[in-house]
Amino acid sequence: MATKRTRFSHQIESLPATVPFVAPEALERITGRTIELRLGANESPFGVSPKALAAMQAELATGYLYGDPESLALRQALAAKYHISVEEISVGSGIDEILGWIARSFLDAGDTVVTSLGGYPTFNYHVTGFGGRLHFVPYTKEWTNDLTALAQAAHDKQARLVYLANPDNPTGTFFSADTLSTFIASLPEETTLVLDEAYIEFADPAHVLPLSPVSDRVIRLRTFSKAYGMAGLRIGYAVADETMIQSFDKFRNHFGVNRVAQAGALAALEDTEFLSMVTAQTRVGGRDLAMAASQHGLSSIPSSTNFLLIHVGDENRAKRIVDGLMQDHGVFIRMPGISPLNQCIRVTIGTPEQHPRLLQALKQVW
Ligand SMILES: *Cc1c(COP(=O)(O)O)cnc(C)c1O
Repeated sequence: MATKRTRFSHQIESLPATVPFVAPEALERITGRTIELRLGANESPFGVSPKALAAMQAELATGYLYGDPESLALRQALAAKYHISVEEISVGSGIDEILGWIARSFLDAGDTVVTSLGGYPTFNYHVTGFGGRLHFVPYTKEWTNDLTALAQAAHDKQARLVYLANPDNPTGTFFSADTLSTFIASLPEETTLVLDEAYIEFADPAHVLPLSPVSDRVIRLRTFSKAYGMAGLRIGYAVADETMIQSFDKFRNHFGVNRVAQAGALAALEDTEFLSMVTAQTRVGGRDLAMAASQHGLSSIPSSTNFLLIHVGDENRAKRIVDGLMQDHGVFIRMPGISPLNQCIRVTIGTPEQHPRLLQALKQVW
């Protein structure tokens, strides 16, 4: 007997009600507390480059026009910077959107995807949304992604995709070019690596795997949300071989990236001085924060990002710190949701002006 259909597709009907992240605005509504220090979502506390801001202000008046659906000017600038071709780049409204393109491009219902247990949740959200099956690999005891186990799982499960964030969120750890190349070579031939490089600008440039030559086994994802300070403008890009980029063109929202974000990204890319200031200040701030934590007997994981994962002992203490900071001080930070990472709190590294306030609040709650 045929079961009666609901209004929705079987795929959507089967999904649990879920959001990848509770937003700080939602948190304010739930707690009734205004956030005074917003250091939980790794948005850049340094803001956007003044040159990018000026370019965006100038572009606002042309907001009555659609953006260039090919984002050609930005892709040309990226191609020149990284010595790749424009055909190997696709621009979308942030990595989060592109993660959805990848799930849609690669997965039939029931296909397996391998990722780290407790890794970036938005990719998992898209995989589940398109009917993929997730297989999770725990982090190592050193709080790094377990590359050996990820590759083994890809073989065992005949994974279509393996996801890796490098530098990683939420641990902040980073693999250098050599280690990454060995990992890529160890994956099954039919598996594609999704390499999420949202924080790559904070990593030591000498150890970053070059974008060129573009590999047909890897999709590299980068964004203007983090180091460039443009999270709310929604613009990021994928670097992959031409056929993968063309697959996105079959279904992506061609007018999904707006002109203001396009102009801002182009100007931000050119303002290398501002970017250097942000990454240098972030390194100094990270050292200060790690030092303050260690003075309280808490260890943190060396970070190649704009946040620090601080080990506070156990899950309950982490929860008390996160809640206490919000309720008593209006300080928004986050903690990983999944064991054993949930013994930690994750704090976005702030500006030199923000740190005294953050440290004072932290001292009172921990
Ligand atoms: C912040 C973050 C993203 C989101 O990037 P957008 O370009 O803003 O969508 C993606 N991946 C990781 C690992 C992140 O931390």
